[in-house]
Amino acid sequence: MMKTIAKIDNFESDAITPDDFSEGRLIKQTMSICPVCLEPAQASVFERHGQVWMDKTCPGHGQFSALLSSDIRHYYQALPQTGDGQSCCGSACGAPLGDAQAATWTNHSCNILIEITERCNLSCPTCFAGSTPQHSNQMSLREFTRQVDQLVAGGKSAADVIQLSGGEPTVHPQLLEMIDVLLDRGFLQVCINTNGIKLAQERFAQSLAERFEHNDASLFIYLQFDGFEDATYSRLRGRADLLRLKQKALKNCERLGINVHPVMTLTRDINEHEVGDFIQLGMNHPFLKKPGDTTCDVLGPL
Ligand code: SF4
Ligand SMILES: [Zn+2]
Repeated sequence: MMKTIAKIDNFESDAITPDDFSEGRLIKQTMSICPVCLEPAQASVFERHGQVWMDKTCPGHGQFSALLSSDIRHYYQALPQTGDGQSCCGSACGAPLGDAQAATWTNHSCNILIEITERCNLSCPTCFAGSTPQHSNQMSLREFTRQVDQLVAGGKSAADVIQLSGGEPTVHPQLLEMIDVLLDRGFLQVCINTNGIKLAQERFAQSLAERFEHNDASLFIYLQFDGFEDATYSRLRGRADLLRLKQKALKNCERLGINVHPVMTLTRDINEHEVGDFIQLGMNHPFLKKPGDTTCDVLGPL
């Protein structure tokens, strides 16, 4: 079976060899994707030689290792802080399962995510959810309202942010009504995770912005933005013509005062070379932000 080791520019270490695969202290098991065929791949995260590595195996293309952190201390520093009872994990951290579930429910929630549809207007080969335009499962407005009311009854309307996700939430025909429910129940920061295709339509963007005109709530768009080249979108998203739509979405949001947080899915040998331009995008557009902190995210490596 072929073995590949991650190449990190300007990073040399005798400790990194292909023979290290699956060596070290197991931190967790998870799913990733194969960097060759982009299909889901079983992955394990290991600490070895003071670093953090993700080792993954594709049935068709062999084993791959990706360096997640060159210093184990940075890996743990980046994890959510716990222990004060007001954090996401808080007093649930380390508790027995039953106690942990109860404690988690009573802690302050930073980020609540509701998947309102399995449908999408793209069929990305990288999609973990397997969403496509053919999927028909979507949450009814009634079920959405029931879940939100349950959250409110549990004191969760004080969450830092509530995210609507999918699938592609903007294709849900009752998205606007769902936002109305959230605003009516007192949620102050609503985030929509989107590929941006519908936001490129001025009327749709306008109808979203109008919801937030006469209240204290804010809308944030978590915008999939993988780069600036057609080839990048062709390989990651299955369509080469997406950059124009994302730029149009950005323009509409800027004009309407909608906060945008662009997110790049960084993939080896596809869009690594576009990271600089992506960061520049955030620096050139001060309106790009999300609740709290940075102007853009890079996810990966895949
Ligand atoms: S845009 Fe997102 S939800 Fe839609 S297919 Fe792509 S990864 Fe999946
Ligand atoms: Zn593969």
